[in-house]
Amino acid sequence: MASISFSLASSSANKSKFTPRLGQLTFRHGQSPSQTLDTPGFLATTSRGVVSHLSRDHLHNTASVQWIHVPFESFLENKPPVLTRSTGPNPAHSFLGFSTEKHLVSLSVRDPSDCAEIPPNGKDFVSARCVQGVRKVTVQDWKSYAAACKPDIIFAMSDTMISAPPYSQKRITKSIERSCAWLLDILAPVSSAPPNVFVHLAGGSSVPARQTFSRTLTEKVYGKEAELVHPLECLDDGVSGYVFDLAPMRAQIGASDPYAQGKRTGEAVIELIQASLDPLPDNKIRLANSAATPHEVLRLTAGVGIDIFDSHWAQKAANIGIGLNFTFPPPSTATAGKRQDLGLNLYNNTYTHDFSTLSGEDSPHCPCLTCSPAPASSFIAHATLDEPTFAGPDFPAPKGFSRAYIHHLLHTHEMSAHTLLVLHNLAVLDQFFTDIRRMLGGGDEQQFHRAAESFCQYYDEDLAVFQEATIMWDMVDKARGKGRLMRDKPDDV
Ligand SMILES: [Zn+2]
Repeated sequence: MASISFSLASSSANKSKFTPRLGQLTFRHGQSPSQTLDTPGFLATTSRGVVSHLSRDHLHNTASVQWIHVPFESFLENKPPVLTRSTGPNPAHSFLGFSTEKHLVSLSVRDPSDCAEIPPNGKDFVSARCVQGVRKVTVQDWKSYAAACKPDIIFAMSDTMISAPPYSQKRITKSIERSCAWLLDILAPVSSAPPNVFVHLAGGSSVPARQTFSRTLTEKVYGKEAELVHPLECLDDGVSGYVFDLAPMRAQIGASDPYAQGKRTGEAVIELIQASLDPLPDNKIRLANSAATPHEVLRLTAGVGIDIFDSHWAQKAANIGIGLNFTFPPPSTATAGKRQDLGLNLYNNTYTHDFSTLSGEDSPHCPCLTCSPAPASSFIAHATLDEPTFAGPDFPAPKGFSRAYIHHLLHTHEMSAHTLLVLHNLAVLDQFFTDIRRMLGGGDEQQFHRAAESFCQYYDEDLAVFQEATIMWDMVDKARGKGRLMRDKPDDV
């Protein structure tokens, strides 16, 4: 388990509560050198403990990924879950192949992006989904899994309302009470090495309910509860960060909810997050899961001061054949008219003979392993004739993979297409956050707001290119196994 600390930059420390802010998360495992993660930044999401499409070597050679989040529910089909069987000082790291020198690992019960209907939670359990169906995870289960896996950060169980709105007052009250009780349980008893606990701020789409939950965190605890969490004075003292799951929040701000009427969902989300953060201290990490676009990232950075976002949307883009190529701030040549796409739909036949890299010839150099592959440290000679070719000083540096090559891989169902796209998309996202930090560090906050506004004007937020790529992905997927002639039919793709 890592020791972590978070600090706001001096330029951000004494400002208003809901302005964009710069910070730094420092973490260290045992005797390893300490690592820093600058915020605003991002974490990579996983499926069954793997950053989709990336091998362990890819992940270790990807500079952009430092924080990896693992939803535990995908391990629940076995009892005890296989992830809890590993031993050592950092069992989750060693079992999943993450590096203690480089990676911070967090664990939550549920996948925060999964909002599909599921049986309701109970008084002392959360309903979770694994490949074999729905499982109940009790508070005691979660404590024992956390103790066995020793992640760097553990998310307290939360009674998130996923069923369709509206919610009765009684249901909202129950959600708040359960979430508080479960947080108290994960904090008690505080051992000599307290876990780094993050809490999902509950209260659904009700401003008063969200304020009530946050105030409860900061109220002094008495009696039996105080004994349980001693020496903590209040629950918030044991919390290292605040989490907002945007996917259920958007569902909660449904059309049937009078709160959302007449307001854009984005504005309503910002108001709800502000209601939650208002009673709480400023010096803790604010994490938002499932932001859908970079536009939403900019709005939440500007309007609430969120520090960490997940990369779910950028990884999803790689799944459907999209190579991202947006920049922040947008090109100065921005003109009114059709908004630009955030990326390239590599399924499109326009890339059949396009031999430039994903980032393009005119754009700044992209450092990802797709656009800038690492030179081989060794080679396999298949004949003695090969040796001079590889060993000589003239052996050329590898070129970046071209759009045409990835287009070909996609149309032949090669999984490596998605590997190359994930590597690139994570690097683009990393550059996006670097550019946000650089602009905020310049000291002119208005410049950041103007750039964010022109970004939203320049790039298409409706993600038309994503819809187009999804259709093409589906067509190529359905042509699987039907032979080359079927796949190559002009009308097919
Ligand atoms: Zn790249």
